[in-house]
Amino acid sequence: MEKESKIYVAGHRGLVGSALKRKLESKGYTNLIFRTHKELDLINQQAVNEFFEQEKPEYVFLAAAKVGGILANSTYPAEFIYENLMIESNIIHAAYKCGVKKLLFLGSSCIYPKLAPQPLKEEYLLTGSLEETNEAYAISKIAGIRLCKHYNQQYGTNFISVMPTNLYGPNDNFDLETSHVMPALIRKFHEAKVNNKPEVVVWGTGKPLREFMHVDDMADACVFLMENYDFSEVGEFVNIGVGEDVTISELVELIKKIVGFEGKINYDTSKPDGTPRKLMDVSRLNGLGWKAKISLEDGIKETYEWYQNQIK
Ligand code: GDP
Repeated sequence: MEKESKIYVAGHRGLVGSALKRKLESKGYTNLIFRTHKELDLINQQAVNEFFEQEKPEYVFLAAAKVGGILANSTYPAEFIYENLMIESNIIHAAYKCGVKKLLFLGSSCIYPKLAPQPLKEEYLLTGSLEETNEAYAISKIAGIRLCKHYNQQYGTNFISVMPTNLYGPNDNFDLETSHVMPALIRKFHEAKVNNKPEVVVWGTGKPLREFMHVDDMADACVFLMENYDFSEVGEFVNIGVGEDVTISELVELIKKIVGFEGKINYDTSKPDGTPRKLMDVSRLNGLGWKAKISLEDGIKETYEWYQNQIK
C-alpha cells in the first residue's frame, strides 16, 4: 500500500471506520475515499457496483456493518443478518470485479461457538453451535469470512479477514438500548453521577468475562496487516485482541472509579448474560509482529473524556 494509493474505507463514520480514517491520515495516506450512508446505500447492489466502477479503489477496508449490543441483536435478528449479508456480498463482489488489490474484512469474536474452549483460536470456527443472542449477526460474519476465502480460492483475490474482540472508543454508540456494555456503562455512571442518583443498574449477573480493546489499537493492527501481509500469510483470518479479559463486575468497578460515581450497583438478572466468556487467542497476530498497546484503564479514561466533550 503506497501513500498515494486509492483507499476506500467503508463505514468511515462508525467506531472502527472512523479510527481507520484517523490512523491512515496520521500515517500520511493522502488518497482516501469515503461515502456517507446517504451518499451510498451499501445494501443496494447497483449503487455499490457503480461506485466501484467509477472510483476504482485499489485498497478497501470493509468496516461497514449493522452492529449492536446484546439487546439489539436479539430484538432485530432479521435486520442484522440481511443488512450484513448484503453489505458484504455487494462490496466483496464489486471489489473482485474492479480488481481491488487488497481488501480487509472485519468480522467479530461472536463467530465462535458458544462453548468453544478459551482462549478462542482461529481453528475453532464452525466447530459448534453459536450463542443464541447474536446468532444472526454471527452467521453473517461467518459468511463474510467464507466469501473472502472462496473468492481468493477461485479468483486469486487478496482478501484478508480479521476478527476483533469487543471494541470501544470514540464514535461508539452510546444509546442505552442498542449499545454494547462499555459505552452503556460509561453513560450510565456519568448520568448517575451528575444527577446524584443513588444507584446504577447493570444488566445480567456481572459474571460473564469479556475482553476489551481500544479501537485505535484495532485500527493500528488493521493498517499493519494491510501494509505487511497477504491473505496467504495470514491464513483464513486472524484474531485481533489484547489477550486478557475481565468480568463485567470488574469492568463496572473500573468505570465507576474513573467516572467518580459513589453510589451502589444493582444487577438486573432479568437481562441476558450472553456467552459466558469470549477471550481471543492472539498468538497468530503476535507471531506476525503486532501487539496491543493501550491499557484498559487509559482507554476508558480517553473514551470518557471524548464522551464528555461530545455531550457538552
Ligand atoms: P455481548 O458481548 O455480545 O454479550 O454484548 P454486550 O456488550 O451488549 O454485553 C456484554 C455483557 O455486558 C452482557 O453480559 C451484558 O448483559 C452485560 N451488560 C451489563 N450492563 C449492560 C448494559 O447496560 N448494556 C449492555 N449492552 N450490556 C450490559
